[in-house]
Amino acid sequence: MTNEELWRAALGEIELSISKANFSTWFKNTSILSIEKGSVTIGVPNGFAKEWLENKYRAYVLNALRNFQNEIGDIRCIISVSRPESDLSGKTPGADRLPGHKGLRRPTKGEEMAQKSLYFNLNPRYIFESFIVGENNELARAACYAVSQNLGRIYNPLFIYGGVGLGKTHLLQSIGNEVVRQDSGRRVKYTTLEKFANELIESIKNQTIGRFKEDYQKTDLLIIDDVQFLQGKEKTQHEFFHIFNSLYQLNRQIVISSDRPPKAIPALEERLRSRFEGGMIADIGRPDLETRMAILESKVNEKGLVLENEIVRYVAENVKNNIRELEGALNRIVAESEFSGREINLEFVKKSLSDILSSGKRKGVQFQHIVEAVSGFYKIDGQKLVSKGRQKELSRARQVAMYLMRSELRSSYPGIGQFFGGRDHTTALHAYEKINRDMETDERLREEIDLVKEKIYSLDLVCISC
Ligand code: ADP
Ligand code: MG
Repeated sequence: MTNEELWRAALGEIELSISKANFSTWFKNTSILSIEKGSVTIGVPNGFAKEWLENKYRAYVLNALRNFQNEIGDIRCIISVSRPESDLSGKTPGADRLPGHKGLRRPTKGEEMAQKSLYFNLNPRYIFESFIVGENNELARAACYAVSQNLGRIYNPLFIYGGVGLGKTHLLQSIGNEVVRQDSGRRVKYTTLEKFANELIESIKNQTIGRFKEDYQKTDLLIIDDVQFLQGKEKTQHEFFHIFNSLYQLNRQIVISSDRPPKAIPALEERLRSRFEGGMIADIGRPDLETRMAILESKVNEKGLVLENEIVRYVAENVKNNIRELEGALNRIVAESEFSGREINLEFVKKSLSDILSSGKRKGVQFQHIVEAVSGFYKIDGQKLVSKGRQKELSRARQVAMYLMRSELRSSYPGIGQFFGGRDHTTALHAYEKINRDMETDERLREEIDLVKEKIYSLDLVCISC
C-alpha cells in the first residue's frame, strides 16, 4: 500500500467518525509525507489544522491508520506550504499535486528553524517567548532558561514535575528549541520515556542495542519527558541509568520531567532516584485565575484574534484544571464560530462550552451510551458485551466499559456488576482498577479510552438506538 493509498483509506474511516463540516475543514489538503519507524508525518496546510490533527483528532487518525497498518505508533504534522529542497526528489508522490502544496519557494529563516526543531523532534511552537510566567511556574521556568544558557554547567540533571497539562513539555522543549536557535552545533535529543523504552525493546530485538546507546551518548542535551512511566520497567531503568551516568560524567545536560517528584515514583531504583534528586528539582503548580487569563490572552493573540476581557475571564474561571483544557476550550469556541459564522460573544461562549463544562452525569449519559460507544469502537456486538459470555476477546472491551461507567458516571460497583449479566461487584471493581493501572503505562489504551469517550460525548443522546 503506498502512502497515498493508506491516507485515502484512513480518510475514508475518519470521515465516518466525525461531522462533515469538521472533516472538510481539518482534513482538506492533507497528505502523508513519510512513514518512518511507525511514525507517520502528515503534511497539513496551516498551524490550525496541525493543532487539531495532533490534539483533538490524534486518536481518530491513529486509530484509522492502524486499521490498515497495525505497527503505526505515532503521528506528527508539519505545515507543508513549501517543502525543504532535500525533499524535492519526488519521494512523496502526490503531495505536490495537492492544492496548497504548490508554489515551492525558499524557506524563510523562521521556517528553517522550525525544520531544525522538527528534526530534533521538537515542536517549534514550544519556546520560552510563548510561555507565560506565573507564580505556579516561575521557578521551573527560570531553571529551564538558565539551563538553556549553560548546558551541563549548572543544574544537572534538571528535574521538572507537575500535573498533566501544566506546561512541562512546553518548558522542556523550550530548552531544546533555544539550544537549536543558538545554532552552536550542539546535539539535542528529545524523547518521552515511553518512546525510549519502546526503542530500547526494539533495539534488543534487532540486536542493535550498541547503536541505540551510542546514539544517546552522542547528545549534548538529552530531554526525557514523562519519566513516571519508568516504574515497573526494570530493564529500561537499568539501561537508562547507564546512559544517564555516561552523559553525566561527560557533563552533558540531562533534563527530565515527571508528573510527580522522584520520591513519589514507586518502584524507582534507588540509584536512579538519588541521581534525580542530586540535581535541581522544580515543580509546576496549578495556575491561578490571573495566570490562566494571561495564558488564554496569549493564545488568543497567537491566533490573531481579539476577545473581550469578560469572555477571557469567563473561560478562565470555568476551565481550571490545566492549560491543555483551556486551549481546548478556546479551539472549540473558535471552530464553532467559524462553522456557524456567528460572532464570538459571551452568550455564544457559554453555549459553546456548555457540554464540556458538564460531566457525563449531567449530560444524561447512561450505561447504554457507553455500551454503544465501546461496542462500536471494538467492533463487537453490544448484546455480547453485556452478556455472561466469557470469550477472551470480549474481556478487554468489557473492562473498558465498566471502567467508564465508574469514571464517567460514578456508578456503584454493584450496579455495574448487575448490568453485566448479574456479575458480582468485585468484577466491576477489579475491571476499574485494572484499566486504571494499565492506563499508566499503556499509551495505546489511554488513546483508546479517549477515543471511546469522544464517541460517548458525541452520540446523539436523544435518538440513540437502545
Ligand atoms: P504537560 O507536558 O505538563 O502535560 P504541556 O506542556 O503539554 O503540559 O502543556 C499543555 C498546553 O498548555 C500546551 O499547548 C502548552 O503550550 C500550554 N501551556 C502550558 N503552560 C503554559 C504557559 N505557562 N504559557 C503558555 N502556554 C502554556
Ligand atoms: Mg507533557
